[in-house]
Amino acid sequence: MKSKPKRKSGLDIVIIGCGINGLFSAYNLLKEGHSVTIIDRNREGLTSKNNAGLLQPSSLTSSPTMSPGRAFQAATVGWGAVYISPSQVARNMNWFMRAFGNMTGYEEKIRELGMLSLKLYLDFFEKEHINPDVQKGIAALYSNEEDGRKAAAAGKGRFIDEAEISQLGYMNLKGGAMFENEVSINPIKLYESLRSRVSEMGANLILGKEAKLKTSGRKVEYVDIGEKLKADKYLVTTGSWADQTLKPLGYKPNVMPARGMIMLFSTGMAKVVNAPALLEDTGIAIIQHNQNTLRITGFYEMVGHSPEFKESRKKWLLDNVKAHMKNFDKISFVRQSYGFRPCTSDQLPVIGKVPGYSDLFVAAGQCRLGMTLAAASGYAISEIIQGRKPSGVNADNFSPARFAL
Ligand SMILES: Cc1cc2nc3c(=O)[nH]c(=O)nc-3n(C[C@H](O)[C@H](O)[C@H](O)COP(=O)(O)OP(=O)(O)OC[C@H]3O[C@@H](n4cnc5c(N)ncnc54)[C@H](O)[C@@H]3O)c2cc1C
Repeated sequence: MKSKPKRKSGLDIVIIGCGINGLFSAYNLLKEGHSVTIIDRNREGLTSKNNAGLLQPSSLTSSPTMSPGRAFQAATVGWGAVYISPSQVARNMNWFMRAFGNMTGYEEKIRELGMLSLKLYLDFFEKEHINPDVQKGIAALYSNEEDGRKAAAAGKGRFIDEAEISQLGYMNLKGGAMFENEVSINPIKLYESLRSRVSEMGANLILGKEAKLKTSGRKVEYVDIGEKLKADKYLVTTGSWADQTLKPLGYKPNVMPARGMIMLFSTGMAKVVNAPALLEDTGIAIIQHNQNTLRITGFYEMVGHSPEFKESRKKWLLDNVKAHMKNFDKISFVRQSYGFRPCTSDQLPVIGKVPGYSDLFVAAGQCRLGMTLAAASGYAISEIIQGRKPSGVNADNFSPARFAL
């Protein structure tokens, strides 16, 4: 049995999952003097590098609102960016039944966590001298002017009309909301800078190893990675795989993967759009990170962890971008990839102690807002692990106990 040398006062903590949530949790725990080991079965972050990089607490829904009619539409004729495979519905009936239920009040809870997160992000960039292509101002754009006015009022943004939208580099859109204080980042740069920082702070990163939790009664005995890793506390941040990690221990955080695509383009050193934008009618995000990199993301597909996209879907995505981006003919394709949003059935993340265990914690299920919420999620779970109540956020809103079996 291998156990790491312990610091005098700190805890020894093993984190499973080196995505953005694992990294921000590690960052906070290391700052407090604890000893941290992070394990990931991949060598590179997948979803936490492959997303739109919008840190956008005003985006009030964390995933599309479900209803039986919409699920049927998404599984048959299609519902824009959303696709739901019938076999996923059949296999995860409980998740969908809960998602179809009457959900109100989650928006404010997410917004509270998101606003705290945005503040923590800005402090983090300044304190650590990290600049992952940070840009202030995100536009939410609509083909219907009234939708733009409603979004501006609901999210306390500034209404923008068709003429201003055109100046930003977009077309065939009648209204929108500009959120001047929200921020976009290049997720690859953020992920890599944070991982390096956490490593410099002393984290032990074990990459390329599958981790399995081994218990004795309601206590974690060790993490199996081919050898036995023992710690004082264990944290699961395995994103859309959180159910698989925790189900053998008798707890299911109710997280399903919702697949999305990213495409990177070269702009030929030209400025092709003047602000990051979310085309709200189709859920497509367009962001120019720097002089030469444009990122386009889209789709919310519930198909398990399959990485294959149909050609017809890619065409749908590009046709929609072409219809709304004035300089579309100036960009050239570089590469594409995908990621899996970790989505709970009630639209809220799961952050806290795993029911029945005193030494096991989880921070997962941030879905479409996982990047936005990560700084605050990492802060909140690190406080909970240390036996403290996080300030500035009501952690009860995200309690894992709501999904206790
Ligand atoms: C197309 C797209 C666009 C998005 N846009 C935005 C956006 O603009 N703004 C925003 O806020 N969010 C966005 N998101 C969501 C965001 O990317 C995710 O919510 C976030 O990255 C999830 O981070 P995570 O750390 O929880 O999980 P992940 O990044 O998935 O990390 C979990 C890690 O756990 C590892 N793992 C799993 N099981 C094991 C095991 N047994 N042993 C070892 N390792 C294991 C995996 O390999 C993985 O690296 C987007 C997502 C997609 C797909």
